[in-house]
Amino acid sequence: MAKKFACSDVVSGCSWSTIAKDESDLFHKISEHAKHVHKMDTIPDEILTKVKSKIQEV
Ligand SMILES: [Zn+2]
Repeated sequence: MAKKFACSDVVSGCSWSTIAKDESDLFHKISEHAKHVHKMDTIPDEILTKVKSKIQEV
């Protein structure tokens, strides 16, 4: 099962989404996006918890 995440589930107004082969690959992509687009060098725990709750299997 691939994993999918849509940023708008956590950050309203952001249209970015991604699909990855597993959760670690997904988090890698999310952290790159968060760094470049949302200026988060590290993702705060509360955001990470929200992200985890929004990950879908596709
Ligand atoms: Zn975003």
